[in-house]
Amino acid sequence: MSEAHNCHWLGCQRHVPPKLWGCAPHWFTLPKDIRDRIWAAYVPGQELTKAPSDAYLAVAREAHEFARSHVPAKRPSPASHQAPLF
Ligand SMILES: [Zn+2]
Repeated sequence: MSEAHNCHWLGCQRHVPPKLWGCAPHWFTLPKDIRDRIWAAYVPGQELTKAPSDAYLAVAREAHEFARSHVPAKRPSPASHQAPLF
């Protein structure tokens, strides 16, 4: 069994290739500045050695903080949930 790798976005369970930080929608929600630094700090194979660099851990923590404080745009909830019981 291969180890599942999930998107690093808080609460996201989507599987992504180990070399990617997260799924596309969440990755592109990150500020470009953070994305650039994640790539800059990424070392090929770090997901195998489980020993990412300090620089990677630092920017990963920033991404985590960003996700934690990010408030997604509210979409109107579907009316079907409030359908009368009739
Ligand atoms: Zn995600």
